[in-house]
Amino acid sequence: MSRVIVLGSCGAWPEPDRACSGFVVEHEGFRVVLDLGYGTLPRLLSQLGNEAANGLDAVVVSHHHPDHSIDLHGLFRARSMGAGAGAPAISLYAPESVVQQVESLEEEDDAADVRAVFAWHQLPAEPYELGPFRLSSWALPHYVPNAGVRLEAPGLTIAYTGDSGPDPALIELARGADLFIAEASEATKSPGAKGANYLAADEAARVAESAGAQRLLLTHLWPGSDRAEPARVARAIFTGEVLVADEGMVVELG
Ligand SMILES: [Zn+2]
Repeated sequence: MSRVIVLGSCGAWPEPDRACSGFVVEHEGFRVVLDLGYGTLPRLLSQLGNEAANGLDAVVVSHHHPDHSIDLHGLFRARSMGAGAGAPAISLYAPESVVQQVESLEEEDDAADVRAVFAWHQLPAEPYELGPFRLSSWALPHYVPNAGVRLEAPGLTIAYTGDSGPDPALIELARGADLFIAEASEATKSPGAKGANYLAADEAARVAESAGAQRLLLTHLWPGSDRAEPARVARAIFTGEVLVADEGMVVELG
């Protein structure tokens, strides 16, 4: 059984009762989380059913903006203090700035433990073997180093943009994906917006269509915005199924 569980769907900062970017991917008993933005850690621990994050095999963090990465610091504490102390290292795939950010939030003594709690692997990089998956990554345009990722196993492909401006590599990233998880900070770009570093729903839908993806999951929705609008815009462009991320949503992938 394979599925994706949405931990959080907000861009930038969370709305009441929501969280920022975070997705649990489960496949053949292997569990990896994509991004750990504001408010995602309690939801992840609820999914795992324990306070030490036992049962989590790997973490992928696209970039060091806090709406994608800040709860990695909480995960560090869960694994370095209390019930999680002494547990095996969790594999972490991320740009190095993500690791440095967690280190910067601790005093020197504890900061030295970050690279013991997490077995860090650089992103973007050549493909990795990650449990049942092949993990491919692309450097995508954003204000800071940002890695889009693609998880492939026989019969299953999941692609995730992190935050990304429009880029031809997105089509390669999403090609034939069963589920393309894409930033949609707006339905369409506001006039005068500096649009090179983020994606709108119409752009995500065009990528999904060009890439021949099966399903598009719109996420990173701007707090306070009308969530029906990006879906409406995307459905007018993409001929596959359009989903809108919602906290606790489970996407079954067969
Ligand atoms: Zn973001």
